[in-house]
Amino acid sequence: RAKSAGGNRFELADPEADARAITRHGLTTALPTALDRGEFFIEYQPLVNLDDGSVRGAEALVRWLHPQHGVLGPDRFIPLAEHTGLIVPLGRWVLEQSVRQARQWRERHDEATAGPLRINVNLSPCQLTHPGLVQDTVEILQAAGVDPDALCLEVTESALIGADDDLLKPLRRLAEMGVDIALDDFGTGYSNLANLRRLPVSVLKLDRSFTQSMQQFPADPVDLKIVEGIVSLAHSLDLAVTVEGVETGAQAEQLRILGCDTAQGWYYARPGPPDRLHELALVDATG
Ligand code: C2E
Ligand code: MG
Ligand code: MG
Ligand code: MG
Repeated sequence: RAKSAGGNRFELADPEADARAITRHGLTTALPTALDRGEFFIEYQPLVNLDDGSVRGAEALVRWLHPQHGVLGPDRFIPLAEHTGLIVPLGRWVLEQSVRQARQWRERHDEATAGPLRINVNLSPCQLTHPGLVQDTVEILQAAGVDPDALCLEVTESALIGADDDLLKPLRRLAEMGVDIALDDFGTGYSNLANLRRLPVSVLKLDRSFTQSMQQFPADPVDLKIVEGIVSLAHSLDLAVTVEGVETGAQAEQLRILGCDTAQGWYYARPGPPDRLHELALVDATG
């Protein structure tokens, strides 16, 4: 009974769940000031051409260096930021930093690499419905002197399921300007494939679960057929296919044979500081 437990008035059915709730509460409280205090930082993970292994760009992945809890991954705080509305200024900050970074890479690389390094930035559904998205993006690109076609915005498949025209309008405008739109975590959202035609996307990012099923050799024949089907559908709609979570050379080879275009994963590099990408791209370009 509670009383015998040291006068504690609360019986905790699940102490771990309670600890998680307390942390969540603490994080939610600390979140609004974290941006002003400069506690967020961005790691970049290379996007690699599957045909020749060359670095084509990077995805920006935000982290929070919390004064007590250390480095927190986005899964810990993005949902809270969405809930509290901080995601709009946070997302704008990530976009601005990433685009500036792309400009710096460009200045250091353009002559050495085959083309400018591109930058991929994740967009929360809350940012899609925020009226400032298009204007902010235009201003950020102009201020940094970066072409729209060097930017790819990633939106999850689930965010666009059943999206009406109002939601798609800002994405269409960005796409018309030359910004690429990628459908992130594709294959997890049970979207109607015919629906793809309606969306202003130019890249499918195949979810990590597909890559994982390429772990065994030979891979499950049904999984192979599914990926093969997605790739051929994507290509027939003029969409490029990027694969996430590539951890082994065998997976990379299998996905290359299946016709995927671009890959991302620990096999190539973990997310890291911007200079790391610079080194990887340069090594890649010079030999
Ligand atoms: P995502 O966009 O699907 O990003 C890919 C995630 O897979 C990243 O996790 C990355 O670190 C991880 N990953 C990459 N390669 C491998 C691999 O080979 N194996 C495994 N097991 N994992 C790999 P991360 O950094 O924890 O980000 C998680 C999610 O948080 C992202 O998923 C994205 O949806 C979201 N996120 C990250 N940054 C932002 C941001 O600035 N804004 C918004 N709205 N969401 C973000
Ligand atoms: Mg992403
Ligand atoms: Mg993804
Ligand atoms: Mg994913």
